[in-house]
Amino acid sequence: MTITYEVGDGLYINMTNRCSNACTFCVRVIKDGVGASSVGDRLYGAEGSLWLEREPSLDEIIAEIKSRDLTKYSEFVFCGYGEPTYRLYDMIKAAEFVKTISDIPIRVNTNGNASLINGITVEEAAKLFYGRFDIVSISLNTSTPEAYVKVCRSVFGEAAWHNLLEFGAVVSKYVPKVIYSVVRATDPDEDLELCRRLAESHGGELRIREPL
Ligand code: SF4
Repeated sequence: MTITYEVGDGLYINMTNRCSNACTFCVRVIKDGVGASSVGDRLYGAEGSLWLEREPSLDEIIAEIKSRDLTKYSEFVFCGYGEPTYRLYDMIKAAEFVKTISDIPIRVNTNGNASLINGITVEEAAKLFYGRFDIVSISLNTSTPEAYVKVCRSVFGEAAWHNLLEFGAVVSKYVPKVIYSVVRATDPDEDLELCRRLAESHGGELRIREPL
């Protein structure tokens, strides 16, 4: 079971495969079906598929982090093959542990719906990031809620798009940097200039990613 894996010079951690979205471009959605994904294996190479046969416990996650030499990496990233805030409170504890052993910057890649997923307010969710995370990267993906529903297919519908922007604006008070990401050419109505204005008016900056 692959809990941590390397991408570039970063060390990534995979705590869950659950997600409230089913983005049209996601490797979770375009996987080849059963068990280990050939897409995942191709993406993540020798360290194997990111499909978890079960979610690792917090103890297993801490043990995995201890087994890695964090001095080798430029950042530690909560990401995975799912939405890490499904494990919000374990993620917080894991980040706290990393902070006790290393000065490595910690990033979270999220769909920005931690409050909806955990049934708490945006302010409550955002406050938890204070002192634990250095960068929050939020998948914005579309310039309108109507397009978001088509591209990201969230169980929360259009509310997910409004919620992620609200979360980004609030969490920007608690972390040094917020990034909103868009995967190029996944939204047929893509308006990158509007995405940039949305990002900047909600406490962050826009980053455009190329599709896999
Ligand atoms: S939010 Fe991320 S993990 Fe979830 S479906 Fe979209 S790309 Fe995949």
